[in-house]
Amino acid sequence: MTTITDRLAAAQQRIAQAAANASRSSHEIKLLAVSKTKPVSQILEAYQAGQRRFGENYVQEGQEKILALQSDCPDIEWHFIGPLQSNKSRIVAEHFDWMHTVDRDKIAQRLNDQRPADMAPLNVCIQINISQESSKSGITPTQMMALAKEIATLPHLKLRGLMAIPTETDDTQVQNREFAELKQCFDKLKAAYPEVDTLSMGMSGDLEQAIAHGSTMVRIGSAIFGARGC
Ligand SMILES: *Cc1c(COP(=O)(O)O)cnc(C)c1O
Repeated sequence: MTTITDRLAAAQQRIAQAAANASRSSHEIKLLAVSKTKPVSQILEAYQAGQRRFGENYVQEGQEKILALQSDCPDIEWHFIGPLQSNKSRIVAEHFDWMHTVDRDKIAQRLNDQRPADMAPLNVCIQINISQESSKSGITPTQMMALAKEIATLPHLKLRGLMAIPTETDDTQVQNREFAELKQCFDKLKAAYPEVDTLSMGMSGDLEQAIAHGSTMVRIGSAIFGARGC
């Protein structure tokens, strides 16, 4: 049976290979281990194998895991990557290091106001709905600069970049078009805000294409922790 340690190494190998194919350094691409629905024991196994960045989608579940691991694994960097209702923003502001799914002024404002003064600014990414599917959250590329301008005024938030979940499809042409569009958005944002350094795109099934198109952070769940649900 393959272990989480083996699968983590295999994921890192895929990243290294994809980076080499794109003539990029693998150091430019960070691996975020998406541990949603998985028990603390599995996060600990990945941690013991050297993994430090973990992503969670659900506020309550994430908070419980952060509290459970804070004394044994104080150097975990926690990323919130799920949709966020504004009445839950305080939990994210008080417990997470990163928030990938900022998609409106109101959430940005609340996270800023609720971020404790003794914590480092919350790192944030703007979520872009690149497929423009109404079922998905995120803003359109044309709304990006206005939201970035708002975030840039908020002292307890640090704008790091963009995040997106492209269309789930086997059509590589559609995938490539969406990743390319995201890279264009990223370059535009970075031109206006030079401190921006994160393009959060690519998951277990499409990390190779995402890296070919300039991803700097891939969010990998099932390839490390196995399938979810059942
Ligand atoms: C679940 C999830 C992932 C990980 O997906 P896998 O296909 O399991 O790698 C990445 N990003 C987001 C936003 C997710 O919700």
